Amino acid sequence: MSLLKRVFLLCCLFLSSVSIASTPLSAPILIQGAMDIETTTLVNALKNKSQTTVGSWTFWQGTINDYPVIISQTEVGIANAAAATTVAIERFKPALIINQGTSGGHDPQLQRGDIVIGKTSFNMGAYKSEFTEKGQGIDPTKWQNFSVTMRLRDQGKLVEHNAFYADQGLINIAQSMASTYKKGKVVTGIIGTADEWNREVDRINWLHSNFNTAVEEMETSSAALVAQAYKVPFIGIRILSNTDLHNQDFDPQTAVDCQQFVLDYTKKIIMTQSKNHI
Ligand code: SAH
Repeated sequence: MSLLKRVFLLCCLFLSSVSIASTPLSAPILIQGAMDIETTTLVNALKNKSQTTVGSWTFWQGTINDYPVIISQTEVGIANAAAATTVAIERFKPALIINQGTSGGHDPQLQRGDIVIGKTSFNMGAYKSEFTEKGQGIDPTKWQNFSVTMRLRDQGKLVEHNAFYADQGLINIAQSMASTYKKGKVVTGIIGTADEWNREVDRINWLHSNFNTAVEEMETSSAALVAQAYKVPFIGIRILSNTDLHNQDFDPQTAVDCQQFVLDYTKKIIMTQSKNHI
């Protein structure tokens, strides 16, 4: 069985049963971004703000359309994203988590400015290699991605995760907003997370053909892992800020456009939930 098929089957087995569609909201919505340029627009949109810093991680509590929202600056990379998510869940008990920000394109159909709604994310930087003798060289194309083993409290056992699924209710709301975004396409796809910035086009193509990645970035699956452990509904939303498949370099304006989309999305979540439950 191909790696891709195995990944798919395993993922299906562990499809998350939590969905915001069936859960009335009252706890805050947590929105994460790694860098200043990925959080400033969101922080500016908050009313009645207060700020807390724990370790290296800053959180702004406030409201959007009178609903409690927390903006979290996770800082860059998988360790920071996991730590910031843990602190946020323990302190603020969010109803759901949106991880958003910039990313690099892997899918040749996508251009800078397009937005990917992450139906799954996975740790693209977890590798093992087969033993080879001294002098046999190094061949990253032979390295195999390996899954994350998690101890899930409710199941009382270890569970392999080859990928983390976004909440289906959150995906549906994001998809319903595709036509409102005017700066590019909005598609659903796979987010590859690693402490890597890949610019070798052959490697980008290899990652895309092996894992069907739409984009790469450095936080989503790490935050998703922690959300999964606590059973908090999660979604990753990533804009292409750069893609070497089309010689498009990093454009910081995309970080602003992504936050604007996520703000509209958050308002829609708040509206959808209040319609369902009032
Ligand atoms: N501090 C660094 C910038 C890090 S950029 C510097 O100034 O050079 C890395 C951030 O951008 C991460 O948070 C990641 O999620 C995102 N990102 C955008 N495009 C990326 C790409 N092509 N590959 C990996 N991460 C990318």
